[in-house]
Amino acid sequence: NESLHALDPEIAVAVDAELKRQQSTLEMIASENFAPVAVMEAQGSVLTNKYAEGYPGRRYYGGCEHVDVTEQIAIDRVKELFGAEYANVQPHSGASANQAALFALAKPGDTILGLDLAHGGHLTHGMRLNFSGKQFEVVPYHVDDNGLVDMAEVERLAKEHRPKVIIAGWSAYPRQLDFAEFRRIADEVEAYLWVDMAHFAGLVAAGLHPNPVPYADVVTSTTHKTLGGPRGGIILAKKDFAKKLNSSVFPGFQGGPLEHVIAAKAVSFKVAASADFKERQARTIEGAQILAERLTSEDARAHGVNVLSGGTDVHLVLVDLRDSELDGQQAEDRLHAVGITVNRNAVPNDPRPPMVTSGLRIGTPALATRGFDADDFREVADVIALALQPSYDVEALKARVTALADKHPLYPGL
Ligand code: PLP
Repeated sequence: NESLHALDPEIAVAVDAELKRQQSTLEMIASENFAPVAVMEAQGSVLTNKYAEGYPGRRYYGGCEHVDVTEQIAIDRVKELFGAEYANVQPHSGASANQAALFALAKPGDTILGLDLAHGGHLTHGMRLNFSGKQFEVVPYHVDDNGLVDMAEVERLAKEHRPKVIIAGWSAYPRQLDFAEFRRIADEVEAYLWVDMAHFAGLVAAGLHPNPVPYADVVTSTTHKTLGGPRGGIILAKKDFAKKLNSSVFPGFQGGPLEHVIAAKAVSFKVAASADFKERQARTIEGAQILAERLTSEDARAHGVNVLSGGTDVHLVLVDLRDSELDGQQAEDRLHAVGITVNRNAVPNDPRPPMVTSGLRIGTPALATRGFDADDFREVADVIALALQPSYDVEALKARVTALADKHPLYPGL
């Protein structure tokens, strides 16, 4: 029972260094967040030792009486949180949830309609090298010249190709989708509607974004983005799909569930139902809007910086660098140099290659979790805008980043 430091100092040193990195820099990757200590405690618990193939009350292993409790609590809480008839909390990740969902709704060779990866969709929505693109006939839809999902194209393609499944959801899109319109189109062509709310689930839980659950046949999500829990996936659905989805997850794609992660998911669902969580999600959106405003200011546009769709309704901003001398890689590197972590991101019809890109995806969930308010977000937005100008003072901007990080200590007890 040696400690990690005693048993494996090589790993311990890297873990400590990662904690320092998270504490001393500003995390603005839109898909990241900081899980509460209680969530990490559950995830680091003895539940990691337990095999529990099956579902609560119907396991293939003995000794499941306690993990039955934690898994059932996770199921009940997430159903309540999103108003769902059915929940499966076992998917190991968002991609695993999506794989299980897609195979429950369709079979290989069927047609699926999803948002193009290059226009903000996710790999699992039909990318060529992903299982979804390899095993299904993919028809991609796109955003229009204003950066908004082209619902007229969705309807036209749905009528032309009669997909088995229509996928609504995104990894890089700054606006809300019209779930009622997706439902209408799906009904018209007798397709299933699957919504992947991985990115915006926290906003939905807080009541600050439309809830897809009443409209969709199946809803998948990750638990670690805006939702702020452990890394993992969930599936929600109408109860008619319960049997198919349960067997698609296990034994379809997974063996033993990660009961320690499921317990951590349960804790995060409790947090997500709180007034504090709602307030945090409101600051998350406000922060993104402050950032969008600064990056569409005259000063920013004078240097070729702009924001796709002109703003945001969610937790992220897509910076458009098509008119800037900086490409996505250079912009990402510059922000890294001042202590801000973001990821470069292709913009629709990007003139630069995919490894370089002409955009940045910048998100506010992690900083909102750290306690950033509107003034703090104004300061971050200004640092980012200045770092994207042709000439900039690295040391001065770095000092401003450090001051913000010091003002909002992360995991002070660790
Ligand atoms: N779905 C969407 C919309 C995502 O953005 C992501 C992750 O970026 C996933 C699914 C996959 O989640 P994971 O990385 O946990 O497999």
